[in-house]
Amino acid sequence: MEKFYCPNCNKFFEAEGQKKEWQSSVFGYCFKLVAKCPECNTECNEWRPKGPSSKGSGSCSGGTCSICPGCG
Ligand SMILES: [Zn+2]
Repeated sequence: MEKFYCPNCNKFFEAEGQKKEWQSSVFGYCFKLVAKCPECNTECNEWRPKGPSSKGSGSCSGGTCSICPGCG
């Protein structure tokens, strides 16, 4: 189980999560984990505490973008 954050409800919840992949014309291959909020059914991003080590799961290969939870 991963931890997710719903900006709509301002709540954290845990869910299995689904990998979402896309190609960015700027950053190339990107992916992140998303899950539906149990309360409002909004697609939410995986919660990742902000920190210097944002590389890895949920980051795009380009390093910094405003889309990936690992970069934003
Ligand atoms: Zn919600």
